[in-house]
Amino acid sequence: MPAIFLTTLYEYSPPFYIAVVFVCFVVTCGLVLGWFGLDVPVILRNSDDSISETFISRRQMVQVKNPFGLEIANPDATTITTGVTLRPHCLEETTLTCYWGCSVQRVQEALQKHVYHFRIMTPGALEEALYREYQHREQHAIQKESKEDILVQLPEDSKMEDFGPVPRTRYPLIALLTFSHADDRELYPIVSMLSVIHVPDRSYRLPCRIIYQYLLTAQGQFYDLKQLYMSTTEHNSESPGGEEIPDCSRDRELLEKLGLSEELPDDGGKDCVVCQNDTANWVLLPCRHVCLCNGCLTRFQHCPICREFVQETFPLLSRTPPTG
Ligand SMILES: [Zn+2]
Ligand SMILES: [Zn+2]
Repeated sequence: MPAIFLTTLYEYSPPFYIAVVFVCFVVTCGLVLGWFGLDVPVILRNSDDSISETFISRRQMVQVKNPFGLEIANPDATTITTGVTLRPHCLEETTLTCYWGCSVQRVQEALQKHVYHFRIMTPGALEEALYREYQHREQHAIQKESKEDILVQLPEDSKMEDFGPVPRTRYPLIALLTFSHADDRELYPIVSMLSVIHVPDRSYRLPCRIIYQYLLTAQGQFYDLKQLYMSTTEHNSESPGGEEIPDCSRDRELLEKLGLSEELPDDGGKDCVVCQNDTANWVLLPCRHVCLCNGCLTRFQHCPICREFVQETFPLLSRTPPTG
């Protein structure tokens, strides 16, 4: 059939015949070259992996040392009656002050006060900003770089069984970490860390966890510390949802890494979920999955794990530096 068609075409008009054969040859060459990944016009290539590099803005990392760390030891066995075992680990001598049943509105107002004029660098400053609207307060001195467990508990005579129906007007527990010595505040950009902790009680039984962790700077900013989702380290897979902080969102992601930088493995593991041949070192925003290597990053506009559209990305400095 093609032979008859070509013969008829040749008899009809030889130049037209030559032109048709030439076009067919060029298209075939284009397809073959495109198959091998050579640089050919997009129109001749498989269309499912168009280069998206121009659409994703890459953000510069700012590395900041966070002197405060706080974890919950054994969160599954924690209730309002057993108390919460906190495990602070700080680079300097620190004061841990815990407030039970703190007004949600007052805490948010306190953060805003920190931004405007009233820096929260000491427990006293926070108490003033909260108008002392909490039910119980306790304080512990934390030694430099110690990782001892500290049990914080409501007093037995408080008879508290829950913090009211959901949605709550009170946070179960607020943990504030501040420097014990005023001169340490000169050494770090971050002057305090405020953690909001959920504690299961009679009316709301989700396991104990840190809901928010705010880093407060001497210049009057605060950042919501977030976890990154990576394949090689075990992290809490629950994302702390809820309200975002628009003022600080620009830098928030840059700080996300701070609390985690020590946990990042430096083993150069080949954990890119696409090629499995290189280190995943790009953080995709807003989903915070770390799943792509340098080579694969440019091929995706959507996160390969959760399919969320990638708006921005930044590299992890502690892993392989980007070559592209
Ligand atoms: Zn890859
Ligand atoms: Zn994702």
